[in-house]
Amino acid sequence: MKNYILKFWQGFFTIMIGMKVTFRHLFIPAVTIQYPTVRPEMPERERNRLYVNMDDCIGCLQCERACPVNCIEIEIVKSIPGEDLGITSNGKKKALWVTKFDIDIAKCCYCELCVFPCPTDCIYMTDVYEFSEFERDNFIYDFVTLTPDEKEEKKKNHEEFMIKKESEKAAAAKMKAEEEAAKKNENVTKSKNNTDDKPEENKE
Ligand code: SF4
Ligand code: SF4
Repeated sequence: MKNYILKFWQGFFTIMIGMKVTFRHLFIPAVTIQYPTVRPEMPERERNRLYVNMDDCIGCLQCERACPVNCIEIEIVKSIPGEDLGITSNGKKKALWVTKFDIDIAKCCYCELCVFPCPTDCIYMTDVYEFSEFERDNFIYDFVTLTPDEKEEKKKNHEEFMIKKESEKAAAAKMKAEEEAAKKNENVTKSKNNTDDKPEENKE
């Protein structure tokens, strides 16, 4: 019996030693939070998911060039005379249609290098940090606001404008060449006439 009580006491004492740290933490404020019910307050200048305000994007490609991992892909189309694309919120005139603006956020390393060169501050980090996906393709964010039909229309308009401009240029060059040829012929005829007149003058 004595032995039984001794063993019981030893077991109890050992448990108490093991639980010492646990008991101590019952009286210390918790450093963990009940995520996702409670969300942590993010620090200033946090780097999370990128966003592009396309209303202010002028298609300058500076963010694309600055990205060290090439996860931004932009395609632009020049506007044609008569098209008014408006101005950005900081007063820059827009002259290019942005027909593609994809960010592959799965490749993004959150370096923020694309944000600093933007002349209109339209690409920036947001406070969104929960954006997991089941499909890899869902990480490619498409920011373009034009519809597929509008994109095609802008490309077609520009192509037609360029063809027209080239044909006008070719027609002007042809006209200039014809004028120069006519002038040259006129000069040749004049000099020939002068040569024909000279013997008669000598006879007199
Ligand atoms: S944060 Fe860095 S890696 Fe991500 S898109 Fe911008 S430049 Fe590229
Ligand atoms: S740097 Fe800014 S304005 Fe230029 S293409 Fe990128 S997002 Fe648009």
